[in-house]
Order: sequence, then C-alpha cells, then structure tokens
Amino acid sequence: MPTRLVDLHTHSSVSDGTEAPAALIASAVRAGLDTVALTDHDSTAGWSEASAAVAGTGLTLVPGMELSTRLGLNSVHMLGYLFDPAHPGLVAETARLRDSRLHRAERIVERIAADYDLTWGDVLAQASSGATLGRPHIADALVAKGYAPDRSAAFAGILHWRSGYYEPHEAPSPLIGVRLIREAGGVPVIAHPATRGREPNVSSEGFEALVDAGLLGVEVDHRENTTAGKARLLELARRYDLIVTGSSDYHGDGKPNRLGENATAPEQLDRIVDAATGWVPVRG
Ligand code: AMP
Ligand code: FE
Ligand code: FE
Ligand code: ZN
Repeated sequence: MPTRLVDLHTHSSVSDGTEAPAALIASAVRAGLDTVALTDHDSTAGWSEASAAVAGTGLTLVPGMELSTRLGLNSVHMLGYLFDPAHPGLVAETARLRDSRLHRAERIVERIAADYDLTWGDVLAQASSGATLGRPHIADALVAKGYAPDRSAAFAGILHWRSGYYEPHEAPSPLIGVRLIREAGGVPVIAHPATRGREPNVSSEGFEALVDAGLLGVEVDHRENTTAGKARLLELARRYDLIVTGSSDYHGDGKPNRLGENATAPEQLDRIVDAATGWVPVRG
C-alpha cells in the first residue's frame, strides 16, 4: 500500500491563507493528501467549516492551530493539534492575541499611512470578517495599491521589521503556549524552529525547558528550516523522544508553499492522535 500523504500545517482565510476552509479542503483533495491539518494562526474558527467539508472526500482532517508566542524579540510559533477548542484558558489567550494583533496592525498602518496612500479600510478589505489579522493582510493591501508586486516583496520591504513601520504584537511565552495546549488536551509541536537567521531561537537549554513544559513534537521538514538546523532538530528529537513532523505551511496564493511539499510519516501522525485527549481527527 502506498504511504499515506500527511500534511500537518496549513492556513485558511480564517487567518492569513487565501482560501476559505472548505476551499482549502478541496485543494487538499486535489493535491492527493490523505490527511490535512488546519492550523490557522490563533484561531479555531475554521474547524467547523473544514470538518463539514471533508464529508465524503476520504480526506482526514486534523483540527489544530498555530499559536503565536514570543521569546524576547523572537516570534515563536507553536502548533497545537486535537485540543479542546472550548478550553477556557486557551479561548481567553487566543482572544487576547487576536485583539492585540488588531491594534498592532492598526498602529503599523498608521505609520505606513504617513508615507503611503494606505487606509485601515484598505487592509480590512483584504481580510475575511473576524480573521486573525497580521502583516499578510497589510501586504495584500499594499499589493492592491501597487506598492509591491506580491506579499513576499511587501514583507521584504515596507513590512520588514527593520523598515521603521514594524512593531511586534503581545504574545505569551513559548512555555506558557506549550502548557496551555497541553491543558486543553492537545499536542504541542514547535513550528519551523530552525529558520534562516533565527537558529539561536531554540538553544539546547531553551529546548529542554520546552520539553519539561510538555512539548511533544518538532516540525523538522519545513521549507524554511535550514539543512544544518534540520539535522540539529532531529538530534534533539531523538534525545527527547519527540514526535517529528513535516509540513507545507500552505497559505493558498499568499505564499509559494504547495500542499504536500513536505509530509509527516503516518506513524508520527499516529503518535499525535494517541497523545491527544481534547479532540479526534475527522474522517471524511
Ligand atoms: P505577523 O504575525 O503579523 O507578524 O506576520 C507573520 C506572518 O506573515 C506569518 O504567519 C507568515 O505566514 C507570513 N509571512 C512572513 N513572511 C512572509 C513572506 N515573505 N511572504 C508571505 N508571507 C509571509
Ligand atoms: Fe502565516
Ligand atoms: Fe509559522
Ligand atoms: Zn504557519
């Protein structure tokens, strides 16, 4: 039997992907995936639409989220799978995060508006109602105004953290993020922890502290992890017996990442499902 194709990191228009959850599921079916996880930034608002959309497709959905956390100036993304989406602690933290992101995006836009013809309304026009707002939506507004050819160019220019327009949003520490996901019965997997220029992000001591807090997995195969970083992550995964994942981080047309370009071994997915107590995969 051919190996099942498992992609555990995707975004819909509930955050900064360009496809609604149902359209994302259709894309996953077309891409030949057997299992897909929906992991919008700081929101579970796409779970129900995606769960309904897998019916009759043969595709399995793993509901999840990519929780924003922060360590000093570094943004650290924590994937969480199969947690209880109604867990009060997690619900409160994600509501706080989305609110902080909203006001931070408004302040970034105010600064940009001093130099460019860009309004808050232009940005809202790029986001679906209630979406987790971020720089990608500001990027799309800049593209619509002709100030950048695409999202990536906007990120390399006006939205770069050194541009003078940038500011970070509030976020809990990675340790708190891991604990919250575990408290909600979920499986925390640190996302793309070895991206270019950010490898000190996870020092060995930092990693050990995350494992002590309940970290269960590490995303190794991701296009932004460096080759040297992946080797180091595999070493850490062996040392702490962590689940190892690989995923696309698909954002629809918002990023070049394609569904299934990186995948997770089925036995690693089984470990995630076995460790979770908050939710179960939705088999279509
Ligand atoms: P924010 O969390 O608002 O600071 O924005 C970070 C988000 O922007 C991440 O979720 C990425 O998916 C997205 N992003 C970062 N760099 C790029 C890029 N070069 N092109 C497109 N999207 C990007
Ligand atoms: Fe994103
Ligand atoms: Fe991420
Ligand atoms: Zn992501």
